[in-house]
Amino acid sequence: MDSPPSFWFRLKVLLGLLCGLRQHDFRAARTYANMHFQEHSSPVKFAKLLAWALRQMWCEIPETIQSSRFEKPISRVPIWLAEGNPLANHPWHDNPRTQLPETAHTVVIGAGLAGSALAYHWGKKANKDQTMVLLDMGDAASGSGGRNEGLIVVGRYYHMVYTLVLPQLRSARPELSDSDVDKLAHQFASIYCKSCYRNAKMVHDTIIQEGFECDYVREGWVQVHDEDEQTKLDDSVRMAIDTGFTDWCKITPDEVERISGMKVRHNAGFSLAAASFHPAKWCWSLLKYGINSGKMLFYSRTKVTRVEDVGDAYLVHTARNTIRAKHVVNATESYTPLLHKQFHNIIQPTQTQAAHSKGAPAPMKSSVGISNSRAFFTRHDDHVIFGTDATRVPERQAGRNQPSRFLTKFAVSEMVRSMGTGDYRITNEWSGTVTYTPDQYPIIGTFDGKRQYILGGMAGSGTAVSFNGARCVVNRILDITSEEDDYPEPYFSAMRFLDPSNHTWPEIEG
Ligand SMILES: Cc1cc2nc3c(=O)[nH]c(=O)nc-3n(C[C@H](O)[C@H](O)[C@H](O)COP(=O)(O)OP(=O)(O)OC[C@H]3O[C@@H](n4cnc5c(N)ncnc54)[C@H](O)[C@@H]3O)c2cc1C
Repeated sequence: MDSPPSFWFRLKVLLGLLCGLRQHDFRAARTYANMHFQEHSSPVKFAKLLAWALRQMWCEIPETIQSSRFEKPISRVPIWLAEGNPLANHPWHDNPRTQLPETAHTVVIGAGLAGSALAYHWGKKANKDQTMVLLDMGDAASGSGGRNEGLIVVGRYYHMVYTLVLPQLRSARPELSDSDVDKLAHQFASIYCKSCYRNAKMVHDTIIQEGFECDYVREGWVQVHDEDEQTKLDDSVRMAIDTGFTDWCKITPDEVERISGMKVRHNAGFSLAAASFHPAKWCWSLLKYGINSGKMLFYSRTKVTRVEDVGDAYLVHTARNTIRAKHVVNATESYTPLLHKQFHNIIQPTQTQAAHSKGAPAPMKSSVGISNSRAFFTRHDDHVIFGTDATRVPERQAGRNQPSRFLTKFAVSEMVRSMGTGDYRITNEWSGTVTYTPDQYPIIGTFDGKRQYILGGMAGSGTAVSFNGARCVVNRILDITSEEDDYPEPYFSAMRFLDPSNHTWPEIEG
């Protein structure tokens, strides 16, 4: 830790933070209070939040950021895109006169993690005469796909999925007994974990088999648990062992230090197979594979304004012209409710932010994911990506890139407290929006009972679901039944939310 700062330094930091506060800081403050002071009444919660904020501004942040330098100005470009985008303005960059086709077998909207994975699987599986057209209103990986921390996660651990899905099932299936709802929640957790484990293996195998250069390193993900979170950790690990989903385990403080370089006083959670990579390079590799297959066409900077169902086809209206397609896939994640109003309150855009520092804490091990309940950090060689926040924003703000400086400084402070001081130079900070459904369980499949699909609601963990989720959608469109369906409709269909009483729910087993 730095030596204690002077009164004047503290005052400068405090005034700087106060002057920099924007509307989002107040929203994020509410999220923080709801997360950390949830058991208190509103006035107590407010008082605790105020005391916390003052402590941050007067003590914690000034005491930890003295050796950090903030580039002036800090770039808003996500670090993954800072060296350019090989598919920028594709195909108009090389062929300005290119026209969109008038028809396609399938149109995919969105070229992030999900859309790029759809392009790859299409390239692998479609016939030459089945053309997919992929449209993005920006460039490939310009959404959250190119703005994230760069951690390939193995989904959420079983206990977390079970706990979150249980209340939603209770209200969606009031006719079931408590014990049946409980069994169903276990089934949901089990199916989800199985799919995510397969996804992680498929991503690993694909990167190796295809030789994709996306800086892939598998070193796991340490999730720090404070003293008051130890019981929850024990319960979750016990459930992981009981159910056989043992990627999630518990490690001792000594193991935490060996694996991550961090000194902690309590046991931590650990995801063994989590990996780190360059997410934008991953998207571009997948897309290039699709483009080179000759079975799909990618058009950047083409906004879809409306999807119209005309019976035996869909008209995909864009700012350029209209494409007639038999199938449509929405890989638009947090932007989905702007195109399809029925997803209002189902696909919930939620802001998260990250920053990049040149210079990393000396003890911090490279490529290991590290998080606590307040912030996350991953070192990539001598750089660190770190961030925080999960605050719901209005739907019209999907995709906003307006990080909070208060939160960047708060995350620096968390990193210094976890890892010690270092020569940090903060060069970039950015934000993006991820998506949560009401039970934080993904949505994959058709949502009109016909041929329009969605692949989303990935709870801020798109790397856990998007790759085999995309394979599942491609298999359904192309009517390929030889591979196991990783995302069965009774569990993953949007109808769970859109029309629960007519949804075909899974049979209760046992
Ligand atoms: C700071 C941050 C850190 C994160 N860290 C991680 C992490 O470490 N691991 C992890 O698994 N996940 C992480 N995530 C979440 C992860 O990035 C997302 O879950 C994932 O990117 C979602 O992928 P996607 O393809 O569905 O959506 P996106 O990548 O957001 O892609 C959607 C695309 O759709 C396009 N689009 C939307 N509407 C239209 C339209 N009308 N017309 C044309 N195009 C349209 C957008 O331009 C965009 O490119 C993080 C996210 C953020 C913001």
